[in-house]
Amino acid sequence: MKSFETSRQLLADAKAYLAGGVASSLRSAMKPAPLYAVSGAGPRIHDADGNEYVDYLLAYGPLILGHAHPGFTEHVHQAMTRGVTFGLQHEGEIELARRLTEVLPCADKVALSGSGTEAVMLALRLARAYTGRKKVVRFHGHYHGWSDSIFTSFPSSDMRQTGASSSSQPEQILPGTGGQSPNALEDIILLPWNDPEGLEAALREHQDEIAAVISEPVMCNSGCMLPKPGYLERMSELTEELGIVMILDEVITGFRLSLGGAHGKFGLKPDLVTIGKALGGGIAISAVAGRREILNLIEEGTVSHLGTLNGNGVATSAALATIDELSKDGGAVYTRMEQTANEIVEGIRALLAKHGIPGIVNQAGPVFHMMFTNEKKVEDFASFNKRDSAKYSEFAGKMLEAGVLVRSNGLWYVSAVHGKQEVSDTLAAVDKALAAL
Ligand code: PLP
Repeated sequence: MKSFETSRQLLADAKAYLAGGVASSLRSAMKPAPLYAVSGAGPRIHDADGNEYVDYLLAYGPLILGHAHPGFTEHVHQAMTRGVTFGLQHEGEIELARRLTEVLPCADKVALSGSGTEAVMLALRLARAYTGRKKVVRFHGHYHGWSDSIFTSFPSSDMRQTGASSSSQPEQILPGTGGQSPNALEDIILLPWNDPEGLEAALREHQDEIAAVISEPVMCNSGCMLPKPGYLERMSELTEELGIVMILDEVITGFRLSLGGAHGKFGLKPDLVTIGKALGGGIAISAVAGRREILNLIEEGTVSHLGTLNGNGVATSAALATIDELSKDGGAVYTRMEQTANEIVEGIRALLAKHGIPGIVNQAGPVFHMMFTNEKKVEDFASFNKRDSAKYSEFAGKMLEAGVLVRSNGLWYVSAVHGKQEVSDTLAAVDKALAAL
């Protein structure tokens, strides 16, 4: 039996000084205790009780190169010795912006900021300024950060109704948190995803008011669902026809599905994309990339883009080091990560069958979502919501006991440095955890 006593004690101490005891609300959900990390090396992480885990949380996605990657660390360290931030311009930000325009097919230009939330805020602001319209279409089950104007939550009864509906009527939208301005979401139109007819009806009905459609290209935040064939292409056609800005929120998929993100992999040309997480390999940085005419609104002074630490030298060097590592051998790392993820996913499916436990794993390359459900397929938000989250959270706790760190909601990330040993340790842990359920 592993002990989590030190982590438990540290959480109790933290609560005296640190609001909520954790630095980001999601982190308190981990069972049997939110862990305190002391170090990470490659695909493994060590906690304050001296336990070691194979890490599939990967800091909620950014650690695409694993922990303390030598090339990355050396590069960032060198940047720090020159001074961490200047509040002035430096060549690293030009170099990063240039590299991003090379690797992201939709990017004529980029703007740098600090987090995915900020990148989404900027993308929406650009879209509103560009179109002179104010409404934004977003989809059930997608997450676009926690800023007031986009952060929503949905009652499960609504989810059941709307998951199957193709109605173009705006939904009643509930705020995502206490303290959110009651008016913050009045410009949001909330629709079911992967429903081209519903999307077309809503866009045509409200076309003169809609500035942007924002969508994750793969619904990574709720079930890792792939877009139906032709769905994102249809979104692109409709938005182009109706003068609406199409924003793909690639905060998860950017750099993760390919160096060119999901839009590069799927051959799409959205007007704007937001990227974050893997971009900085664990250092805070994000970007909005896309069409010149839209990003030029910043230079023209129409749109303000601010941030004390935007484009700082540590963050830009982290992103450049990440691009360098991911570009090696013609991007062979993506094939490797996908193969590793395939082996784990196939292994999990076989173990679910062996233990007679109904479950589904939805995969998009090196990211996948495991859930316990009686559904035959999980292809929309309504079926996603039928999964047994309590059982999964219990499973995640048993995985910790067995030496594997997985996020308690079911989303797994595989890094460039997860190898054969990790796959076999992980499948042994899954076997044990499923047996103990
Ligand atoms: N957009 C997507 C698709 C995300 O998954 C996230 C975070 O998980 C965000 C935006 C917000 O990013 P951040 O947590 O860096 O603010």
